[in-house]
Amino acid sequence: MIATEPKASIKGGEFLIKETEAAKVFIPEEFTEEQLMIAATCREFLEREIWPRLNEIDNAKSPELISSLMDKAGELGILGTSVPEQYGGFGTNFNTSMLVAEVTGAGHSFSVALSAHTGIGTLPIVYYGNEDQKSKYLPQLASGEWKAAYCLTEPDSGSDANSGKTKAVLSEDGKHYVLNGQKMWITNGGLPTCTLYSPRLTRPGKRIKTCQHSLSSEPTKASQ
Ligand SMILES: Cc1cc2nc3c(=O)[nH]c(=O)nc-3n(C[C@H](O)[C@H](O)[C@H](O)COP(=O)(O)OP(=O)(O)OC[C@H]3O[C@@H](n4cnc5c(N)ncnc54)[C@H](O)[C@@H]3O)c2cc1C
Repeated sequence: MIATEPKASIKGGEFLIKETEAAKVFIPEEFTEEQLMIAATCREFLEREIWPRLNEIDNAKSPELISSLMDKAGELGILGTSVPEQYGGFGTNFNTSMLVAEVTGAGHSFSVALSAHTGIGTLPIVYYGNEDQKSKYLPQLASGEWKAAYCLTEPDSGSDANSGKTKAVLSEDGKHYVLNGQKMWITNGGLPTCTLYSPRLTRPGKRIKTCQHSLSSEPTKASQ
């Protein structure tokens, strides 16, 4: 964990309704040497691996390209900055993750694959996964061995995410869920992925009562 001067954290949109002392606002000059080194690693990765291949990436002619670039990002530790150390990541703080996102955001369309993996694909497990899920998925996601996708959007539900129709129905023996539905515009959906879905959970013969935010599945190949 990187040690930075602790500051009183402002929660959510609190800054809109509360006065914040200027001295309590984090400024880039406060980044530590270690945080700046992480940022430099990300920048060098973009210079060496991404920027020279922008046309190749956008043409999407090689299905393996994005996957292999993600593997390289994983080797450098770029995919594991927010993953706790006990699950193979670096467990860096929020400011470091933001710095990494700021630098890697200059990676044109590749940054969408990268941020979907490290953000919506990995963080739900970091924040809400149980111990079994964390130890099963996070080390593989931090290394890049598995790529993550988050499946929320459906043909009839975009911004209005709660109107999704995909269902996860508990099997009669209660051992697994059967997922049925249609998802679209899923970043990294074409990679061998660990996918998180946002289905309505239900049991046979029972009415749907809850809409769980996510459910992680076994890693699958897109072709399967
Ligand atoms: C590059 C990219 C990557 C993506 N990756 C993923 C992914 O990995 N996983 C995933 O699940 N989805 C992904 N999506 C889909 C994305 O999440 C949806 O496009 C988004 O949720 C918006 O849904 P929609 O396109 O159906 O637009 P709609 O929800 O139909 O909205 C259309 C327009 O209406 C406006 N609007 C909607 N509701 C209201 C309202 N109540 N009041 C006023 N205005 C409103 C919106 O602001 C928008 O301008 C991706 C999309 C893009 C472009």
